[in-house]
Amino acid sequence: MFDVENLDYPALLEAAEAAARATTGRGRVADYIPALAEADPEAFGMAVATVDGELYGVGDWEQPFSIQSVSKLFSLALALAYSSDGGAGLWRGVGREPSGNPFNSLVQLETEHGIPRNPFINAGALVVTDRLQSLTGDASGAVRQFLRRESGNPLLDTDPVVAASEAEHGHRNAALAHFIASHGNLRNPVDTVLEHYYAHCAVAASCRDLVLAGAFLARYGVRTDGTRLMTRSEAKRINAVLLTCGTYDAAGEFAFRVGLPGKSGVGGGVLAILPGRAAVCAWGPRLDQAGNSVAAVTALDTLTTLSGCSVF
Ligand code: GLN
Repeated sequence: MFDVENLDYPALLEAAEAAARATTGRGRVADYIPALAEADPEAFGMAVATVDGELYGVGDWEQPFSIQSVSKLFSLALALAYSSDGGAGLWRGVGREPSGNPFNSLVQLETEHGIPRNPFINAGALVVTDRLQSLTGDASGAVRQFLRRESGNPLLDTDPVVAASEAEHGHRNAALAHFIASHGNLRNPVDTVLEHYYAHCAVAASCRDLVLAGAFLARYGVRTDGTRLMTRSEAKRINAVLLTCGTYDAAGEFAFRVGLPGKSGVGGGVLAILPGRAAVCAWGPRLDQAGNSVAAVTALDTLTTLSGCSVF
């Protein structure tokens, strides 16, 4: 058994990897963005970065993959951190309730008059990218720069092939963005917002990069260099929205199985936070119906179930 006060991360990662590898063949690699379909369906990696600066990994933990919607955690964090009003304005343009609908659904947006339900469905992330663009003049560049600094990986970048593939097949995101704009909820031109949204979704990063970049949430808002990105209360709020909305319409199932704030992406990555302790990222390209990685959710489920460690 594992000691919940003193987690044996190498042993937990080994057990999590074994459980994840046993899911072979379950789920499907995303192909609605054609460039994503080229991922190796059996790849698997997992990493942990503790608040004390320890770093552990198993499998393909240093292999870059398309982070996709995991980037939405960082765009939200930066938009809130850079807001001069504590985020009050941002939260007027995007809600913070679970959607109960697929991440790219158009239906809810119509009934809710162009105010997306939360920042992690595509519609909400477009609003966040728009606000970050107004705050920085280069939304995707701000996300890349933050990821590079926190991970210490200067080579981390947008994959231009994936970004172009997203744009070419982005009719649904374009429809969402135009619809939001029709309600006056975008400050920048639709094309600019889409370009920056695709560019931050198409960043290629590894489990290693993502745990280091996400660890500020485990440190309650403190960056790798010890400076504060946001207040403890803001970090708590981001973790809360991750828990309730970070895995789309499967957020309830994810809370039930894993019990941690987490953000998934259709590239197969899931970044989860053990507040006060560590950031954990698992990656496997095969996705379930909701768009969450079968292997990554299984791995995180195993880690929290074996250790008894979660936010509950
Ligand atoms: N870039 C992807 C999209 O817009 C992100 C979706 C996701 O990872 N859930 O469809």
